[in-house]
Amino acid sequence: MKDIPALFGSLVFDDAVMRARLPKDIYKALRKTMSRGTHLELDVANVVAAAMKDWAVEKGATHFTHWFQPMTGITAEKHDSFISPVGDDKIIMEFSGKELVRGEPDASSFPSGGLRATFEARGYTAWDPTSPAFIKDGTLCIPTAFCSYTGEALDKKTPLLRSMEAIDKQALRILRLFGNVSAGRVLTTVGPEQEYFIVDKDVYLQRPDLIYTGRTLFGARPPKGQELEDHYFGALKPKIAAYMQELDEELWKLGILAKTKHNEVAPAQHELAPIFTTTNIATDHNQLTMELMRKIADKHELVCLLHEKPFAGINGSGKHNNWSLSTDTGANLLDPGETPYDNAQFLLFLMAVIRAVDEYQDALRTSVASAGNDHRLGANEAPPAIISIFLGEELTEVLDAISSGADYKGREKVHMEIGVTVLPHFPKDTTDRNRTSPFAFTGNKFEFRALGSTASIAEANIVLNTAVAEILSQFADSLEGSPSFIADVAALVKKTIRDHQRIIFNGNGYDDSWVAEAQKRGLSNLKSTPEALGAYLTEKNVSLFTKHGVYTEKEMESRLEIYLENYCKTLNIEALTLIDLVSQKITPAVNGYLCELAAAVESASVFGDSAAQLALGKKIAALAGDLGRKLASLEDVVFKAHGIGNTSEEARYYREAVFSAMNELRITVDALELSVSSEWWPVPTYAELLYSVI
Ligand code: ADP
Ligand code: MG
Repeated sequence: MKDIPALFGSLVFDDAVMRARLPKDIYKALRKTMSRGTHLELDVANVVAAAMKDWAVEKGATHFTHWFQPMTGITAEKHDSFISPVGDDKIIMEFSGKELVRGEPDASSFPSGGLRATFEARGYTAWDPTSPAFIKDGTLCIPTAFCSYTGEALDKKTPLLRSMEAIDKQALRILRLFGNVSAGRVLTTVGPEQEYFIVDKDVYLQRPDLIYTGRTLFGARPPKGQELEDHYFGALKPKIAAYMQELDEELWKLGILAKTKHNEVAPAQHELAPIFTTTNIATDHNQLTMELMRKIADKHELVCLLHEKPFAGINGSGKHNNWSLSTDTGANLLDPGETPYDNAQFLLFLMAVIRAVDEYQDALRTSVASAGNDHRLGANEAPPAIISIFLGEELTEVLDAISSGADYKGREKVHMEIGVTVLPHFPKDTTDRNRTSPFAFTGNKFEFRALGSTASIAEANIVLNTAVAEILSQFADSLEGSPSFIADVAALVKKTIRDHQRIIFNGNGYDDSWVAEAQKRGLSNLKSTPEALGAYLTEKNVSLFTKHGVYTEKEMESRLEIYLENYCKTLNIEALTLIDLVSQKITPAVNGYLCELAAAVESASVFGDSAAQLALGKKIAALAGDLGRKLASLEDVVFKAHGIGNTSEEARYYREAVFSAMNELRITVDALELSVSSEWWPVPTYAELLYSVI
């Protein structure tokens, strides 16, 4: 039996290790920096660095790296060894405070969206002491923020930390109004549930589209899909169980609270959910989780697919971002609580979230926009591209009773007066009850379900934190100094419910009638990434982020440029991959099979009846004709896309022309797959991929 508690966090320079290894005053100074975000003195950093290095070397580490999250969406690291020459051809292992707190990677090869001119290649990485250092593959990894020479953020961590500061500041103002003087900080917490597919490595290696783009660009529907619903929560196959076990153990060593694992709805699809933690750590941990998912799969001769839509016609993968606010004293601010006073406070925070989601729908939508996620949102399996909130019947009734002044029927006709009644504890939304809402209240937290499986959770949380911070700041502005505080809170709650009714929707988000209804309500429905990104730089969004110091306008402009470029590049790679596959594999296979059929027609005519062979040959020849024409059209639109100078126009063109030309071509390839002999078909089919792990 493995000693899991001893294993847990064994590769993390966590609080227990720091306390054991650092002199008391140094430990105290570091704790202060970590909990209050204060500046770290170099002499303190020197002692911490030496202790970290000794600990890491004892664990077998030889290198260190500043681990950061550039705008590529994945993490980056450059390894430096600890060795330092001391004369006589000898070395010692050394690591200084300066090396710990700051790095200077050559930043010119990371996306900057024009922020950093190529002549100024330097970028800086700065230690984020709020996320603990850890050892990965013999390297001490130091979580860092990454910025340009002039101080602009070039990564996802910096704005995330800024958004956490913003919401901390505004939430504390509200708490103080309720007489809370003990809370020193308000932190946002996140538990991201991660979905993924697992396929056999040998089969995967025969699909260049999976290798280059992460998804299948064609593939006819398999005879068995997810219709029997026999995969969800089904028993784990031994190979999958062994993989998940090793994954859990490696995650635990890194202090990641991997908790739940199960089969998902689609064949070959699975999910892993950790226990929630502070947002920036949850973000780091989610990045590590995705990295380890891929790496460990490889060890098991498997491949982990993190793409949002690896297979058309089969559910895609998302990431449910469970989000709440809590004080450093452990109180969850989205928990209804047990006294009338708690209720009023809960209601006010609830209103802040409702109003933030309504007012900043577009920003939230933009935060989950990507080429991959476009296949999910609105595709009848994931929340629609329309942002709305599910509150559940009970909470909705409570809010209705408050806003209309009527009695609340659910609990023996209670009169809902804020500050007088105790709200009921709302049952946790079992996912069966509503899984179609993009933003659902689940008892004591909200679940933002529109995130894609590949993306960093940083963007979504940056928007969520900042938007809620803004509404809290407006609430605080209006309530501070109020002589009739509770009455004013009550009025504010009522007004907010009435003003933002339109964002609340408890029905089926997959239903077509919702699209029409949402339009009537004036909710936005930004269907694709280029459309969503069109709303990125609106005056309202720019003023939100600049007001709270989360982004400068320049940073936003550069980010928009990166997102647009990324979208275009992704579609370009997909189109080129499809062109290659059709030209080099599908067309030759179809031609080969046609020759075989022609011979079969001749042979069959010897026996007096070649009608079947002839009919099949004609059908395939006609499809082959379509294939050639559609391939030429795709080549043509891709070529034209290269000539468009403006990225925002280019993105729209990719969506309108290239994306549809790819879909057109796919229809023909899929039809051919169903008619051509499997002996000739050059790549594994959906059935072979989805049922590749036995
Ligand atoms: P369900 O499985 O019904 O969605 P769970 O209670 O299992 O609900 O929670 C799902 C995820 O939500 C888990 O990752 C869990 O850690 C996380 N979670 C629970 N409470 C909070 C909270 N206060 N803040 C953020 N995430 C939370
Ligand atoms: Mg859930």
